[in-house]
Amino acid sequence: MPSSEIEIIRHSLAHVLAAAVREIFSGTKFGIGPVIENGFYYDSDLPIPLTPEDLPKIEKKMRELIKKNIAFEKQKISKEEAKKLFKDQPYKLELINELKEKEATIYKSGDFIDLCRGPHIKSTKEINLDAFKITKIAGAYWQGDEKNPMLTRIYGVAFDNKKDLDNYLKNLEEAEKRDHRQLGQKLDLFHIDEEFGAGLPLWHPKGALLRQIIEDYWIGEHLKNGYELLRTPHIARLGLWQKSGHWDFYRENMYSPMDIENEKYIVKPMNCPGHILIYKTHIRSYRDLPLRWAELGTVYRYERSGVLHGLTRVRGFTQDDAHTFCAPEQLGQEIDSTIKFGLKMLKTFGFKEYDIYLSTRPEKYVGALKNWEKATKALEYALKKQGLKYQVDPGEGVFYGPKIDIKIKDSLGRAWQCTTIQIDFNLPEKFAVAYVNQKGKKQQPIMIHRALLGSLERFTGVLIEHYAGAFPVWLSPVQAWIIPIANRHNKYADKVNRQLTAHNLRLEIKNENETVSKRIREGELQKIPYMLVVGDKEEKAKSVGVRDRKKGDIGMMKIEKFIEKITKEIKNKK
Ligand SMILES: [Zn+2]
Ligand SMILES: [Zn+2]
Repeated sequence: MPSSEIEIIRHSLAHVLAAAVREIFSGTKFGIGPVIENGFYYDSDLPIPLTPEDLPKIEKKMRELIKKNIAFEKQKISKEEAKKLFKDQPYKLELINELKEKEATIYKSGDFIDLCRGPHIKSTKEINLDAFKITKIAGAYWQGDEKNPMLTRIYGVAFDNKKDLDNYLKNLEEAEKRDHRQLGQKLDLFHIDEEFGAGLPLWHPKGALLRQIIEDYWIGEHLKNGYELLRTPHIARLGLWQKSGHWDFYRENMYSPMDIENEKYIVKPMNCPGHILIYKTHIRSYRDLPLRWAELGTVYRYERSGVLHGLTRVRGFTQDDAHTFCAPEQLGQEIDSTIKFGLKMLKTFGFKEYDIYLSTRPEKYVGALKNWEKATKALEYALKKQGLKYQVDPGEGVFYGPKIDIKIKDSLGRAWQCTTIQIDFNLPEKFAVAYVNQKGKKQQPIMIHRALLGSLERFTGVLIEHYAGAFPVWLSPVQAWIIPIANRHNKYADKVNRQLTAHNLRLEIKNENETVSKRIREGELQKIPYMLVVGDKEEKAKSVGVRDRKKGDIGMMKIEKFIEKITKEIKNKK
């Protein structure tokens, strides 16, 4: 329900939008028109398909209506009256039938009547004509259900003043330029193929290489930080998921079982049970703890087709997962080092700003109250010790334990959920996980689930948008192009290539029959960090003509000198 002044204006604009659509396309059946972040939308079932070219026409009509200073009048009528009033509006009739109250509230604004609880502005006089805009159309199923008809959703934005609107539109344009789905194709990184399946990205050579670079760094850092690596298969017996509780609590996110020799198997939605079975192959002593086990584990979770989005919302993804088993007295220290580790890694990838959330015990929970309190204290302790600002989300923890979430901010200030650190009292209990403590008694360890990047798919999508595809040298799948000026320089280009490749640099020779400037232009579009132009002069001086992606032409450089420069940048993760 709209509450602030601007939200009331946004919602009133939704009514004006519907009124305008009704005037232009008579016979339109209307769905709903709520307020959303920065604006509003209205869903309608139009007699003819709408195109983006219709939007200015609709916006013009809205302005005409607004200028008439139309009043919004609220009325309460009986459900029966409402049904008569909306007899030609099947979607509204459905809503009336779903009403729990005896009466229906309607709003009249000019000729347009809508079923609505309000609140609304008094008159369209209150709307700033310079501070709203109709932005786009999309398809949306009625009530969000794929089995229902597809309606046309018309979106608009509205702000207090023109400056805020202009700012928003500028940011939107910038975000579109950075859209990882477009850049993914332009830079030949990945694609999603209808024939293969929605939400299941296919990685092209450059995208797969980018991902490998991220994974290699991730593995190296984990080994340095006292983690061991595990691998577990993609499917497991149904009984395992029944025992873990996922089949009861998480089934709506899981895919249907498959039959293998009359035994039911499930494609895994999580990596945890496999790690627990590995833990249980030995009797563990307090001397073995903490055990930190990491896996780049691919999991599959059901997402409605309507919410799938490029790499950031998918149906199969690789978590940069880890589970730590520790003694209760080690918890504070473990959380502390995990947060440090996560923030360091995010910083290396170029994310220096973030918001931290601490989610506490929800109403429905498992485990002893005393343990919840201790665990929540341990999370707080670690955050405070590092002087990190955080927000408490009361009751937003998972049923099995409290958690810390870190949302990174990208170059446009958008927040993305990445790191999550969750304490779990449930699985150790379900699987009777134990260690022998100092007194020689069996005791339950604390289990921590954590992912630092979140998922490799999503994180790569965020990286693409953060850098607008211009990755730092250390991450770039292709770090330099070698551009021979003429055919007679091809041999020298090969020589330069061999010399640089020997230093593990990633290069491509661009010797197509195109002008040098055209090849440079193409390299700029492909966001290649360095272009090395080689001709007579360079060959004679055993050099390359270096073009920096940011600085342009930085002159001729001895090959050894360039190797020194670029390897230093890579080492410093630049
Ligand atoms: Zn309304
Ligand atoms: Zn887990």
